Amino acid sequence: MIIYVYQEKKGLLHPAFKDRLSDILESCLGSTPLDLLPYPAIFANAINSANAPLDYVAAATLVNDAIIAVKNYVSDRPNYFFLGVFNKPSGMQRALTKLGYQWGVSWPEDKISFDYAPEDSRLMNQLHETLHLFGVDDCYEDRPGHPAKVTCGNSLCFMRYGNNTSQVCAHVREQIKASEQLKQY
Ligand SMILES: [Zn+2]
Ligand SMILES: [Zn+2]
Repeated sequence: MIIYVYQEKKGLLHPAFKDRLSDILESCLGSTPLDLLPYPAIFANAINSANAPLDYVAAATLVNDAIIAVKNYVSDRPNYFFLGVFNKPSGMQRALTKLGYQWGVSWPEDKISFDYAPEDSRLMNQLHETLHLFGVDDCYEDRPGHPAKVTCGNSLCFMRYGNNTSQVCAHVREQIKASEQLKQY
């Protein structure tokens, strides 16, 4: 499996990300080769607008441009996922925040995710957003208080809301085993 990783500045991808993701995938699917390749392009607009005033339309345009750039880059590279990791503050982080995303977002149908969590939550958030790319759902209800879903049997599961761990529940493992996105590999 290939994940293209864009890092606004070097070192934003958590150093344990690859090992922890490999562990999770291997526990579900057996040996799963995992390559993290640098995404070589630069999101110039996202960086240039780091300090510019940003209204909703400008934010949506900036994010949409980034998605189109990634899709163009990978159009002849079908077996990939994409993870963009941004600093806070940055143009991309400000745009995504403006659109209502807290620490990151994933679009599984496009196989694109962005992460801009605070440094001490980066490993958890990068794993969380990447599992979304594989079709894994949140383990919390989408309502105030974000209570855990009854399907999640691990109180330390990082697909729950606010859990800064690297553990997942059995329900997450089942979704990884059944993932259509991962069947291509
Ligand atoms: Zn989530
Ligand atoms: Zn769970």
